[in-house]
Amino acid sequence: MSDKTMEKIVALCKRRGFIFQSSEIYGGIGGFWDYGPLGVEMKRNIKDAWWYDMVTGNDDTLPPAGAPSSYSMVGLDASIIMHPQVWKASGHYDLFHDLFVDCKTCKQRFRLDQIADSQCPRKPSKHPGEHSECDLTEPREFNLMFKTYVGALHDPSAEAYLRPETAQGIFVNFKNVMSTTRVKLPFGIAQIGKSFRNEITPRNYTFRSREFEQMEIEFFCSPKESQRWYEYWRDRRFSWYTSLGLASDKLRLRDHSPEERAHYSCGTADIEYAFPFLAQGEYGELEGVSHRGDFDLRSHMEGKLVRDGDGFAVELDEHGQPRYAGSGKDLSYFDEETKKKYIPHVIEPSAGADRAMLAFLCEAYTEDAIPDDKGVPQPRVVLKLHPRLAPVKVAVFPLIKKDGMPDVAAEIYRELKKKWNVYYDQKGSIGRRYRRQDESGTPYCITVDHQTLEDGTVTLRDRDTTVQERVKSIDLTTIIAERLAV
Ligand code: ATP
Repeated sequence: MSDKTMEKIVALCKRRGFIFQSSEIYGGIGGFWDYGPLGVEMKRNIKDAWWYDMVTGNDDTLPPAGAPSSYSMVGLDASIIMHPQVWKASGHYDLFHDLFVDCKTCKQRFRLDQIADSQCPRKPSKHPGEHSECDLTEPREFNLMFKTYVGALHDPSAEAYLRPETAQGIFVNFKNVMSTTRVKLPFGIAQIGKSFRNEITPRNYTFRSREFEQMEIEFFCSPKESQRWYEYWRDRRFSWYTSLGLASDKLRLRDHSPEERAHYSCGTADIEYAFPFLAQGEYGELEGVSHRGDFDLRSHMEGKLVRDGDGFAVELDEHGQPRYAGSGKDLSYFDEETKKKYIPHVIEPSAGADRAMLAFLCEAYTEDAIPDDKGVPQPRVVLKLHPRLAPVKVAVFPLIKKDGMPDVAAEIYRELKKKWNVYYDQKGSIGRRYRRQDESGTPYCITVDHQTLEDGTVTLRDRDTTVQERVKSIDLTTIIAERLAV
């Protein structure tokens, strides 16, 4: 068995229509990607699995395993462009930047924290970090938010930003959700949507893109309980990835050291995956789970906060006024049981849909060999995706395009399509049709052959084992439902 390399995974994604370079016919644009016919189905399945497992499938009356109590989950879909004051109060306007340096030799720009891993193309060397011997400019700050203008005027009063995270849309709607639903603390608001970051060096395929999708939860709870909820969400989110097929020995939960944590965080853990594009022993972030205290709701009440001793205080300008004012609205919570009012604490599990998809693709990519008609092993590529994530669940083939087989196969296809995304294919040799579905990650293939016309049975082929069995076509819906369990 040969190695799984990024080159092979990228080639498969292109060949089968999972992921294309954006604007490819014009030479592409760095940091932007398009999801093709199979890719869009798979990404939708990831988002649907997340939404179901976190939101609609949540039982509001029973505590899930490991949870301190039962809780409610509701959804939201906030706008991408928001009032610019949102980003000033949240701190993004001032602080959401990376430091970059320019290499005067190769004229390229690099993130300061990545320069040690980069090679100067004009001064190649076998040793990582050689770039720093080059003639580099002093580090400069670069805000990652994409700026745009709202309306016809292109002056500072019309400036707005594409959101760099979906989270702020949740915080600014906290009161709306509280007053329009019957939720009580503890509860979470979930959102899936596009985010934009003008990354200095987008790289590693879709891992670091400039436009990507996030799946975020802001979980509101009482300050007394927040540490327990933080631990619950950290573990719950880790096991979500393993439940969908990521091998636990390639995943790791890494607690941030106090120095590494963002200034507002009382605890952060990253869920990381050993992507094949990383060196042995290195991991890339899939999701961050943060205990954010009351930082966010307080910022949107009072204004941009800065460190003040052990706590935070509103940052003031030279006139003693908040440098960036908050909304002035009361975003606190009145606990009817204890008759106490407080600003809820927030636990934030923040995942990237594109990074999750890349990890699931990397994990699923497998090369093995299966015997041909004469028993000679033939190499194949197969995507061993979890059935919930597979873009197509079943493919239906007539063995040949005559003797009424296409009609019987089309009938089966139509019946199964009522429940799942099913693919029909009557072109080419049966072996090639199987291989195509193996590469697409389709868990089951059904073939209508001569025997079907005699006794109503078909062959059902399993993607991973390639074992074929004969089953009655009238039983297909039940058998497939049991095996897919989706
Ligand atoms: P990194 O350190 O890799 O830049 P981050 O810590 O800035 O990531 P967060 O702000 O915590 O990321 O965002 C939450 C999640 O959003 C990340 O765990 C990741 O899955 C996703 N994400 C963030 N930036 C990108 C990006 N440029 N491309 C794709 N996904 C991203």
